[in-house]
Amino acid sequence: MRHVGVLALQGDYEAHGRVLSELDVSWQLVKMPRELDAVDSLIIPGGESTTLLKLMAPIAMRPALERFHAQGRPIFGTCAGLILLARETRMPAQESLGLIDIVAERNAYGRQIDSFIGEGTPLVADLEPAPLEMVFIRAPKIAELQASVTPLATCQDVVVLARQDNVLVASFHPELTSDRRVHQYFLDMVSG
Ligand code: GLN
Repeated sequence: MRHVGVLALQGDYEAHGRVLSELDVSWQLVKMPRELDAVDSLIIPGGESTTLLKLMAPIAMRPALERFHAQGRPIFGTCAGLILLARETRMPAQESLGLIDIVAERNAYGRQIDSFIGEGTPLVADLEPAPLEMVFIRAPKIAELQASVTPLATCQDVVVLARQDNVLVASFHPELTSDRRVHQYFLDMVSG
């Protein structure tokens, strides 16, 4: 039985929960490392990555997430979640988990377009047809990605959705549109 965790330290975790309920998927909030034992996959929501790191440190969430990943359980990071999962984070640089071989540039879409809705282009059949509506909020850009990372969708010719093994990342917020294809893709990683 699939049971998805949503990291609930900060950010828009409630919106991911609403999507999972709408898709009739069993889920729970995860606030403490021990709660990871109960779930078979995890969503790390958007929010503010520096704040998330500060909240994770005193409860030893980082080593718990590293173990979770090493056990092959799928993790989906959106926006600030992408920043946390990246191999390297820039603008400004900060610690990250290094669970996907990408370089994330924070707030890289510029101040005047801090937030916008874009039309994304799927690169895999599972996410077709175009367009995929994408909401960007002070979004990070995937500045570099290694050959080990598979690009899954672009927006404005930049990769905004990518996967490496059991890790999926999105620069945008799929929980804020009514299109459920990206969540469905992640759920297929969980059962597949
Ligand atoms: N700019 C934020 C950060 O650096 C991320 C924004 C978001 O998650 N919507 O963490």
